[in-house]
Amino acid sequence: MKYCSSCGGNISRRTPEDDNRERAICDDCGTVHYQNPLIVVGCIVESEGKVLLCKRSIEPRYGYWTIPAGFMELGETLAGGAARETLEEACATVDISHQFASVDVIDAGQVHIFFCGKLVGGFGVGEESLDTQLFSEDEIPWDDLAFHSGKFALEKYFEDRGENNGVHFHELRRSKTVVFRCLFCRCLLGKLQTTGQRRRRQVTTKQCSVLKHDRGCAG
Ligand code: ZN
Repeated sequence: MKYCSSCGGNISRRTPEDDNRERAICDDCGTVHYQNPLIVVGCIVESEGKVLLCKRSIEPRYGYWTIPAGFMELGETLAGGAARETLEEACATVDISHQFASVDVIDAGQVHIFFCGKLVGGFGVGEESLDTQLFSEDEIPWDDLAFHSGKFALEKYFEDRGENNGVHFHELRRSKTVVFRCLFCRCLLGKLQTTGQRRRRQVTTKQCSVLKHDRGCAG
């Protein structure tokens, strides 16, 4: 964010009084523009043991399969949003039973909430889809799924076939490589790769070849 949506003034990042983190603040009118995660709602729509998937006709992930899902709109409930997305993407009415999975997509600043439900009547191909189909567990195009969060939801769904046994939580982060360099001559000492699930050392740390010390710092 570069300009204030209230007055058009320049935005700078500062920590307001009585706050504990930097915010986007207008230099002219002082409006604090809070930026918070967005909610994506989706639904696993079941019919006779199969689930309804949509092949995306839009970016990101054009041509890949997804469960019906999208950004929640103002004025609707989580379940209402999931049902609306199902109607828009698959021209299908769903009788939602319960919420069963929640995925924190940290780097995208999103939370994805998934529901289970039964297909009521038929289905079609919505504007954001190239195709829609019912898939049994064996038929799911696992390698051509659009998003990790949807894959997690499908995996959890098939573990218990949508039984209401609580909400499954998951966290997604892009992997990040931190490089450690010698404090003095800046030669490479090692790399540490971090992911949401685990931390692991990717490259063995070596001694500085110039000064023969092994004190590193990130950077
Ligand atoms: Zn302003």
